[in-house]
Amino acid sequence: MFIARTLQDLSRAGREAPTNSPGRLALVPTMGALHAGHLSLLEAARHDGHRIAVSIFVNPTQFDNAGDLARYPRDEAADLAMLRDAGCDLLWLPTVETMYPADGDARIETGGPARGWENDARPGHFGGVATVVTKLLNQIRPACAYFGEKDWQQLQVIRSVVSELFIPVAIKGVTTLRDADGLALSSRNRFLGVDERARAPSLHRCLLRAARAIAEGDASEVVLDTAREDLKLRGFDLDYLALVDGRSLRVLTEPAAGARLIAAARLGSVRLLDNTPVDPEFVNHAV
Ligand code: AMP
Repeated sequence: MFIARTLQDLSRAGREAPTNSPGRLALVPTMGALHAGHLSLLEAARHDGHRIAVSIFVNPTQFDNAGDLARYPRDEAADLAMLRDAGCDLLWLPTVETMYPADGDARIETGGPARGWENDARPGHFGGVATVVTKLLNQIRPACAYFGEKDWQQLQVIRSVVSELFIPVAIKGVTTLRDADGLALSSRNRFLGVDERARAPSLHRCLLRAARAIAEGDASEVVLDTAREDLKLRGFDLDYLALVDGRSLRVLTEPAAGARLIAAARLGSVRLLDNTPVDPEFVNHAV
């Protein structure tokens, strides 16, 4: 695994990175504190026959408060060991100064799927995400980049930015990896207390139940209100639970092709995100 910490390192990477796998380069952008969910993105890229570049950068411009940024978990030694084992070819570890030169303030402005939901909860969040991802894509110039469906709105924002700015990269979404009890893996799960961890899978279960009821024809507002009450009773402090179009993230009043249920809720100090498709195919899956 070739490790680049500076732009000079990165320019050498093209010449010196291992070339034992012949495929085109895929980028997996991360903020580190890696877990099996991140590794599933590497596996998807490997499965598609690509060489793999991973970036680890805790991007300050996507945090709307300094405390959250300071608390974000960091564990470079463990990340490096996991990536070596996972067959990462190139690891990009830029500094804040490299990504955001002191004399520059170019930023991507986002609209479309970036409106509402996460952007309401964390104003400016997607402008920061779009800016850093654009910089990473321009630095690495991968043929494709892999993102998790766990951050559904983020995936749609990246797709729209790449398409609208004509960035020559294919964006691939990867299914959310979950613990056996259904909780979506996340770097922040480590902050859940024992009792919170036990209650956390209810979010996914609630989404599955609601998605099935809506797909079977129950009135979506009634189903969503019941699910919201249920989550409150289970101790979740709900930011949003909504039925949306999976691409535009606009609210839907009834299910349509590509519809998605999206949710964000706090359990203690941890904010959990999850989403699930709402379609007839889904009705066949067990809750
Ligand atoms: P993060 O380090 O949280 O910014 O995540 C980096 C990438 O990993 C993003 O594209 C996430 O959507 C993806 N990711 C995070 N958790 C999971 C998961 N449980 N399953 C699949 N992808 C994930």
